[in-house]
Amino acid sequence: MKIFDSVGEWQARRQDFTARPLGFVPTMGALHQGHLSLVKTCTEQNALTVVSVFVNPTQFDDKRDFEKYPADPHSDLQRLEAAGVDIVLMPDAKQIYRDEYRFKVTENDFSRRLCGAHRPGHFDGVLTVVMRLLNVVRPDNAYFGEKDFQQLQLIRDMVDAFFMPVNIVACPIVREADGLAMSSRNQLLDEAQRAKAPALYAALKGSHSADEARRKLAADGFVVDYVEDLAHRRLAAARLGSTRLIDNVEI
Ligand code: AMP
Repeated sequence: MKIFDSVGEWQARRQDFTARPLGFVPTMGALHQGHLSLVKTCTEQNALTVVSVFVNPTQFDDKRDFEKYPADPHSDLQRLEAAGVDIVLMPDAKQIYRDEYRFKVTENDFSRRLCGAHRPGHFDGVLTVVMRLLNVVRPDNAYFGEKDFQQLQLIRDMVDAFFMPVNIVACPIVREADGLAMSSRNQLLDEAQRAKAPALYAALKGSHSADEARRKLAADGFVVDYVEDLAHRRLAAARLGSTRLIDNVEI
């Protein structure tokens, strides 16, 4: 496994990696089985797999959330190596944002709803970093989890809008045995919050309406950002203490 912490070095070597198709999995690290399921699909479908580990500062609307975001690069690299990844990119923010974020991708409609309504600028940051990473890696296929359903939809729309030559592949949500969707942020839950957290998935699945799910979550002690039905999906974000959880189910 080759590790690049310099974008410039990677770009200089990019042409040497001629095996096709090339697959790419962008992550923010603190890797768990959810990330690794994307990596597995990627290695199965591509001759070469590139994974990025980059905690993207521009997508955090809350500075404290950014500061406490979990990081474990040593364990990430061990897991990626064991998963058969060929190349890992671990750039720092200065390299990705050498323009100091003067240039960004903005979407004016769907990105303002759901998570975007509660996290101003969040999806600008997400779309901008994904655009930059896709331009740096130039993959044939890029893998994203349905866990971040709104993000996945916006990335598909961006790739389409800008005629970007990449195929976006959606991967299903990986859950803990008790139903909680895996997330790097789950590490931040204390014992009582962790015990309560599976109620999010249970409420989404076990309610007849978004309203009913919202009521159940509030009664369980969640602070609910939203529960909304969108086409055939019920999506939610809710907080336990200062940790924000998101999830969605098919309806
Ligand atoms: P993150 O590191 O949280 O930015 O996630 C990187 C990628 O992994 C995104 O495409 C996520 O949607 C995906 N992902 C995170 N958690 C899960 C999960 N539990 N199941 C499936 N995909 C996930």
